[in-house]
Amino acid sequence: MDGPHPSGRFETIPCPVCAGRNFSPLFEKAGEPFVCCAGCALVLINPRPRFEALEHTYDAQYSRGYIDKADKKLARCTRWVSRVAKPLGRRGNWLDVGCSAGFVMAAAEAAGFTAWGVELEPAAVEFGRSELGLERIVCGTFEAQRYPDAFFDVVSMYDVIEHVPDLNATVQELARVLKPGGLIEIRTPDVSHWARPRELARWKEIKPSEHLYYFSPDTLTRLFASHDLRLVHRRLLFKAAIDAFYTHA
Ligand SMILES: [Zn+2]
Repeated sequence: MDGPHPSGRFETIPCPVCAGRNFSPLFEKAGEPFVCCAGCALVLINPRPRFEALEHTYDAQYSRGYIDKADKKLARCTRWVSRVAKPLGRRGNWLDVGCSAGFVMAAAEAAGFTAWGVELEPAAVEFGRSELGLERIVCGTFEAQRYPDAFFDVVSMYDVIEHVPDLNATVQELARVLKPGGLIEIRTPDVSHWARPRELARWKEIKPSEHLYYFSPDTLTRLFASHDLRLVHRRLLFKAAIDAFYTHA
């Protein structure tokens, strides 16, 4: 603990992508320092609030927005699922990490997959069970589920990886549970995208305590490469986001 916050609620971390310890300050928001890694250009909050201090952000209020407009959500998730199913060329087991109420799971099941989902917010999980009839949706962290080795044909993480407290533990676990020839799809904001505001502090994705990391396609692919996962395909988006597909190297 070498951060400037004497309360012990903050921790300083080495860069999760390149393990570097040199950071250039960018700006502060809500008392949290946003920095850029000198080694790899990852943007992150560092020092950052400890995870115990962050868990309050995953309350019912947070996921209410996901539960509204269920029909629209399901239609959108159906498009996402078909975009993965086509290049994969087969059905099988689909895991959605940070699945919220389970709309991706429901769409995957409708497309012929067997779907699993894991989510921190209990109200979202309850909605998925009772309203969407999902059996394999569970409340907790991804890492705690101890899914079998080489089990999933697809693992999706939509707008989740920027939140996880231990990035390398999460990506290692993704690599472990993915079947040979399976696909991991990651969607996350893109800090290097032409469509984001020139003044980074004004970008709507800058969220203290919530979005801990701000990837570019390069830093995301470098992180996955360090866990023997290689980029298969990246969809180019008009909004400032990355949509990337990885498989075992
Ligand atoms: Zn770095």
